[in-house]
Amino acid sequence: MIAGRHSVEMVEVAPRDGLQNEKALIATADKLELIHRAIRAGSRRMEVASFVNPRAVPQMADAEAVCEGLPSRDDVTYIGLVMNARGAQRAIATGRIDQLGAVSVATDTFAMANQKQTSDGSVDAAREVIAMARQAGLTGQVTIAAAFGCPFEGEVGEDRVIAMALALAEAGPVEIGLADTIGVGNPAQVAGLVGRIRRELPDMALRVHFHNTRGTGLANVWTAVAQGVSTVDASIGGLGGCPFAPGAAGNVCTEDVVYMLERGGIATGLDLDSLIATNGWLAGVMGRTLPGMVARAPRSPKQSASTGCLENG
Ligand code: ZN
Repeated sequence: MIAGRHSVEMVEVAPRDGLQNEKALIATADKLELIHRAIRAGSRRMEVASFVNPRAVPQMADAEAVCEGLPSRDDVTYIGLVMNARGAQRAIATGRIDQLGAVSVATDTFAMANQKQTSDGSVDAAREVIAMARQAGLTGQVTIAAAFGCPFEGEVGEDRVIAMALALAEAGPVEIGLADTIGVGNPAQVAGLVGRIRRELPDMALRVHFHNTRGTGLANVWTAVAQGVSTVDASIGGLGGCPFAPGAAGNVCTEDVVYMLERGGIATGLDLDSLIATNGWLAGVMGRTLPGMVARAPRSPKQSASTGCLENG
């Protein structure tokens, strides 16, 4: 147990962030099977689709069809990711989305590439999305993308992220997420940024979204939770990122995060065996081994000893 915390909430992002960069289109039925399996494993909050221009993200073109097939569950919060009012209208119109997830980007260059807006424009758009969610009787939250570094502009200053968080908080989101979109963050940086936001916005719920591109994902999760973050995004199998970019890696892996937290005395509400079974099923759908590590390893230290690691010292 760390920082007095006994549990964290996990948000499953495999159906959206996990799949969206896959070049081969995944069948709607397989997306729904993934969602069913995540719920059976205990997931109660999930990004199920992104309501963006299908020409920009073809993998998400079936967002409405996915929503139509969602299991009717009062105990599961389905999140639709939206970039603007048009996306919000689409998500609300499905009648199946419980929460709109808006995105603001910390730098102008990335904001232009991602959603054809300046960084400030993306803050305004997110505030509008949050207002639309509230008007429609849903909840709205927002993620600050590239909060730990930008693929175009490099370092992102803490002051910029804090200013965005303060402006976004005025719109009344139920939570603010900090995303390390390109996986450059490190634990010291996470501790610094989360600590500052907690001081500036002590009552705001915080969520973190890490990619494991440089192997710092799990350390960043642990650090964020120790700093008081209540919610962690993760993707079954560690799916996500671009499979065609050398060195690119996916989201932090749900099974790996669950293994780390649960063995550290922090409950996640998720069943590791079910997640590992889902990893196996998903690997079959994708036709490749997924990056997550726990699913490929023996489950207990004792099993590791009996599989012959001892001679390696
Ligand atoms: Zn991501």
